[in-house]
Amino acid sequence: MSEATAPETRIPGEIDPSIPPAARRERLKTTHRTMTKRGVMWLGQTCNLRCYFCYFLNRIADHEHPEHPFMSLEKSKEICRKLREHYDCTAIDIQGGEPTIYPGILELIAYCKSIGIHPTLITNGLRLSKPGVVEEFRDAGIRDFLVSLHGIGEIHNETVVKKGAYEKIIGAIENMVQAGVPFRFNCTMSKPVVPILPKIAEKAVYYGADAVNYIAFNPFEDQETGIRTFDNVSKYMDIKPYLTEAMDILDANNIECNVRYMPICVAEPRHRKNFFNLQQLTYDHHEWDYRSWLWTGQQPQRMKEGPCSPVYRVGRGARRIYYSDPHELAKRYAESPKVRALFALQGMACKVQQAVQGKDAVWRKEAQLRADEDLHYQYHAGCNDCAAKNICDGFHGDYASFFGSGEAQPITDHAPTDDPCYYVSAQEKVVEEEDKAWALPRG
Ligand code: SF4
Repeated sequence: MSEATAPETRIPGEIDPSIPPAARRERLKTTHRTMTKRGVMWLGQTCNLRCYFCYFLNRIADHEHPEHPFMSLEKSKEICRKLREHYDCTAIDIQGGEPTIYPGILELIAYCKSIGIHPTLITNGLRLSKPGVVEEFRDAGIRDFLVSLHGIGEIHNETVVKKGAYEKIIGAIENMVQAGVPFRFNCTMSKPVVPILPKIAEKAVYYGADAVNYIAFNPFEDQETGIRTFDNVSKYMDIKPYLTEAMDILDANNIECNVRYMPICVAEPRHRKNFFNLQQLTYDHHEWDYRSWLWTGQQPQRMKEGPCSPVYRVGRGARRIYYSDPHELAKRYAESPKVRALFALQGMACKVQQAVQGKDAVWRKEAQLRADEDLHYQYHAGCNDCAAKNICDGFHGDYASFFGSGEAQPITDHAPTDDPCYYVSAQEKVVEEEDKAWALPRG
């Protein structure tokens, strides 16, 4: 990589011709939208960093937390097997904490590949900066890495709270380029990072990332405990000019860009296709499917001790199960034929519901419930005049408590839509080779 022109000295958006061809590989893309088959698993909240915006910061810091220690290899394989066999997942995002330091990670990757569930690791890249490590993951069967690049230089070091982390993550990315392993970027838009969002896009161009996800610094999981402050959270409209520039760079270089969890009206009209709210996630193959996510999100599937809780389907009764004590459910399921019969009934009822209403409708309902019941999204009064209201989440409840919802800019340049794919169906998305059969149009 040393012969390539430094991104800082090039015209933004211009492809550097000295980048090795492998870094600019041809990507298969489509605007055909199908439902994702990607699951997720958390191996345990053990990590070699302490990023201040981490969703699991408290669990990582607290060694006594039941979700802190890594689970056994046997349990992690069981979860992957259930994702493949029960939920029909063909891809999985494996997270830790930091999954590259999980003792059985290479064996787990090989296992996933062997059962037809292609693994991605969501990683901070620290361990992957060592020579030869990326090659070990490649040879085990990794599909790609989702690299957490949260700044450039000192800003990355400050956001992940570790000196030297930036050099290591860049070293890891260069190792991926050299080893021919695809990678994507995740970038959390906390306040110090916002002005350099275009620089992140330039890095993606320079190194040949398959996609860049810009994620609003909204609270999920542990972030709801007051970690967010006015010092690290930006107003959406302050983010907009930098995000727009970054997206133009990525568009000009044919790199997929996804913006998560921001009101659609924050986007310039040409970028609405890149905004994924909860209703659009279903149609992003790099995002998690609601049916399996409801199950893997329960604590028994995130912790070392104890058995997995019983699998169930999204739809009728699912939220009741989700909100029950999953440890108690696992115990009763093991002991009682009646409870097992009830779960079988729930599965059948949901199958019928999906057949009658359509899977899309059932998953969409789950997305709406997450926005309303779990995350307390709010609309502004002006949203009632917006053509996108039925497909937009509005403002995250916590964001609205910081800044209100007055930034809403109702969309009035087209008739109201009720189609979650109204905008995103114009986006060209990367399709992995193994997904062609179901991700591309037939014929
Ligand atoms: S519904 Fe409200 S928040 Fe969403 S795009 Fe429309 S005006 Fe913006």
